Amino acid sequence: GHQDPSALSNPTGPQDPSALRTFPASTVLGYPRIGPDRELKRALEAYWDGRAGRADLEATGAELRARTWQRLHALGLDGLPSNTFSLYDQVLDTIVLLGATPARYLDADDPYFAMARGTADLAPLRMTKWFDTNYHHLVPEIGGDTVFKLDASKPISEVRQALELGFETRPVILGPVTFLLLAGALERLDEVLDCYEELLAALAAEGVTWVQLDEPALVGDRTPRELAAVRAAYDRLGAQAGRPGLLVASYFGDLGEAFGVLAATPVEAIAVDLVRGVVPPPAPDKIIVAGVVSGRDIWRTHTDRALGLLRSVKAAQVVVSTSCSLQHVPYTVAVETSLEPGLWERLAFAEEKVAEVAALSRLLTTGRPGSPPPATAAPAPLPPVAARSPYPVRAAAQAAHLDLPPLPTTTIGSFPQLGQLRAARAAVTSGSLAESDYDKLVEQEIEHAIRVQERLGLDVLVHGEPERNDMVQYFAEHLDGFAVTRHGWVQSYGSRCTRPPIIHGDVSRPAPITVRWARYAQSLTDKPVKGMLTGPVTIVAWSFDRDDLPLAAVTHQVAAAIADEVADLEAAGISIIQVDEPALRELLPLRAADQPAYLEWSVAAYRRATSGVSDRTQIHTHLCYSDAQEILSAIDGLDADVTTIESARSGARILGGVQGFGRGLGPGVYDIHSPRVPSVEEIAGSLRATLDALPAVQVWVNPDCGLKTRTYAQVEAALGNLVEAAREARAGL
Ligand code: GLN
Ligand code: ZN
Repeated sequence: GHQDPSALSNPTGPQDPSALRTFPASTVLGYPRIGPDRELKRALEAYWDGRAGRADLEATGAELRARTWQRLHALGLDGLPSNTFSLYDQVLDTIVLLGATPARYLDADDPYFAMARGTADLAPLRMTKWFDTNYHHLVPEIGGDTVFKLDASKPISEVRQALELGFETRPVILGPVTFLLLAGALERLDEVLDCYEELLAALAAEGVTWVQLDEPALVGDRTPRELAAVRAAYDRLGAQAGRPGLLVASYFGDLGEAFGVLAATPVEAIAVDLVRGVVPPPAPDKIIVAGVVSGRDIWRTHTDRALGLLRSVKAAQVVVSTSCSLQHVPYTVAVETSLEPGLWERLAFAEEKVAEVAALSRLLTTGRPGSPPPATAAPAPLPPVAARSPYPVRAAAQAAHLDLPPLPTTTIGSFPQLGQLRAARAAVTSGSLAESDYDKLVEQEIEHAIRVQERLGLDVLVHGEPERNDMVQYFAEHLDGFAVTRHGWVQSYGSRCTRPPIIHGDVSRPAPITVRWARYAQSLTDKPVKGMLTGPVTIVAWSFDRDDLPLAAVTHQVAAAIADEVADLEAAGISIIQVDEPALRELLPLRAADQPAYLEWSVAAYRRATSGVSDRTQIHTHLCYSDAQEILSAIDGLDADVTTIESARSGARILGGVQGFGRGLGPGVYDIHSPRVPSVEEIAGSLRATLDALPAVQVWVNPDCGLKTRTYAQVEAALGNLVEAAREARAGL
């Protein structure tokens, strides 16, 4: 089904920007790139381990791109995107595109991956979550010495590769305003626009007729100055002679007043998210790319609702599309043969969503009779949330019961997961390993982790989470109301993927989940072992949500199930229970007006999960990638006795706001996302910064996050240095 490149129609031609342009009838804003079998993950790991060269990695990338275009075409999609592939991250690609690689990385063997992952000598760039998704991007670092200089080789080579295969594509590029807002450097707009102008000219010279510039930042609250920058940017790019057509793509919410700003510029097309946003005002001279098929959920699209939305858009042309890139959903439902019947029929992953887009664009022209939208369910009522005693009362009871030294040392929960464990889990699933043999293996791992922690001299131990494939999936597998997929991988960052579970019914806990492992770990040591649970907000944030119940109601159901587990851990003699909420920040609505309601129900759900314990039981929580400053008062509202929080990689910013924080706090003293081992001095430095910001009685000493992606050699070296740094700091108190 290849097209002949020489026969590609190019009705307006790059040389004629004033002529009426038309857009393909259907498209998607982006597509998964990790590979249906996570081929990219394996290729990356082989390259990083030195088992393969850069050329092997590039070959895998080329193969994945080719398969994607062929598949999209076969599914009936008209407008194919390119440059949606990335070896690591699309924001990192944009840093390279604009020549904004910080100078210190330029001498590394591979500057791209040095920025992504660090090297023995260099810390990586900061990483943070992509808007309100669970995808992580690298944060551009733009300073006085940044000299922007276009390097368009990646988008151009993708365009050429597609053309060789017979496909005319629309390169997708992160837009200048969003790029600079992510970098906190909007004042550099003029310089960056020089690069975008040059890029548009270079793409036009390749025969490209449409370019997609992604501006998701425009669905958030934007100041008048920022909106003026949007207008200036697109007035300027729009005025360029001989350029391709411009599609400015918004997603993850409503454009609000930014729509009018864009509509007043010469851009030909605007993509709007009609799943989360509303139908825009009539725009008779614009092409509207209408995102009616959700890129954020896994449910089939309600055809008549989507057609109704499409028909209510008044524009020069209405293009059927997804609400955002499909990179946030797995490849295909077709391979999920073990899902319960009745559920399978309701699901649509990337391939099925592409087919829906194509089908909707056919229906839009042929018309069809309407049917009513599906009914929504009523949430079952839950009892009110209990309150704990005031913190000083609890703190005294805990101090007496736990008898910890000042600056207690601990970890975030997981210890390295050996390949052997993953293989054993697969063997249990396939029936070749007995459940009891697997359990023995888990116990051996727990014992190993406990012995290592005792030897290193940590104060509060963890069992290491060897029984968990993933902190959300594991709980989903043990709760009613959830389904898990076999192959439903979604990229989280770089080579890392998660398999988000699917919430499809009322949630409850049929039996204790972690209690036997916690009890076993505690039986091996006199030091306190923390019980380790995932919080309700994180469980729903990292799952695909129901489409027939409000998220708040679903989250409270999950919270009630976690509360049952907390009660059972306490009854089993576990005196510290950590309930992780790394995703609390992530679900924060992008618009300020929507945030208070969210924080109220999410914090209440956390308290439902944790407030049933006695005073002497210490509740910990953990957050990561939390631009925590913004939600410090919500973190305070969680009312946990101790909060450990990512901070090494997001700089010392968290410490700026913690003065009013009245309970225990452990800002991570080193970054676990990189394989490098921090020195005692480095950790001591982080610890000093914490002690400058916070009274010592409140300070805990811990890494940034869980250790499961590291090796035991790295972990033992790093934690040994951490314990040593804490000892030195204690001596100085
Ligand atoms: N307890 C989890 C772990 O240590 C927390 C992971 C996370 O914060 N993402 O792996
Ligand atoms: Zn974390």
